[in-house]
Amino acid sequence: MKKLLAASLCLLLLLSGCMGGEKQTEPTPQPTAEPTTLSIAAPTPLSTFHSPLSTATPLPTAMPGLLAGRHIGIDPGHQSEPNRVEEPIAPDSEIMRNKASSGTAGASTGVREHELVLEVGLRLAELLRASDAEVMLTRQIAEVNLSGSLRAQMLGEAQVDLALTLHCAGADDTNARGAYAMVATRGSTGWHEESATAARAILAGYAAETGLPVFSRGVLQSADQTILNWCERPIVWMELGHLSNAEDEAFLADPDSVPRIAYALYLGIVAYFQSLRVG
Ligand SMILES: [Zn+2]
Repeated sequence: MKKLLAASLCLLLLLSGCMGGEKQTEPTPQPTAEPTTLSIAAPTPLSTFHSPLSTATPLPTAMPGLLAGRHIGIDPGHQSEPNRVEEPIAPDSEIMRNKASSGTAGASTGVREHELVLEVGLRLAELLRASDAEVMLTRQIAEVNLSGSLRAQMLGEAQVDLALTLHCAGADDTNARGAYAMVATRGSTGWHEESATAARAILAGYAAETGLPVFSRGVLQSADQTILNWCERPIVWMELGHLSNAEDEAFLADPDSVPRIAYALYLGIVAYFQSLRVG
């Protein structure tokens, strides 16, 4: 366990991501030689949905009834203006972090993370509702003032079966690319295994359907994300790709990609809940 925690801490130092929301100065993130992976088998994707998308392929519609009775929370990360008032990163923690940031931005296009993930989140909510899920969004506009702990509280009060916080990464190494998923460290919340299972399903579905590479094939554990630490429901932090990488950015910043990104996430969420039924 100590080794696992140490690896987690190393990863946290290496990952610059969008955590601080502003230009990062941490070392270049690298896929670790000893990734912090969780030994959970990836759920089998839905064969009827599992066809890689191309820009010429019309997106299928969501299947009614598929998520009936499921309560799903979507947290589009960040907001238009930062809030530099600090809050503890976890219950009982003395480590403090700014309540909110506006996230990263595309190096070439200038596309803003907080705007992109909101568009994706709104579209994803439509798809989930079309499959009869109950969906709550922590925000539906850019101009909000929501700290990580407040977002977690909103998700907890909604008693969601699964929450997804949406982000895009930014790294000093412009070669770093791809999507990855994070959950809170094992033992820090009561929902670690559920969160990790969902993270694997969502990351697998997302990568397969978007064609984007995976930055880390294993689900990463983070002790450093306020919303993950405070959330009392299963929650997955999803980095949709690196806005600091030209190829990732070209895909992420393309307005035509938003429905595809949302659909890919939808497939991953469906795969997760399907795995619960057969498990
Ligand atoms: Zn972010």
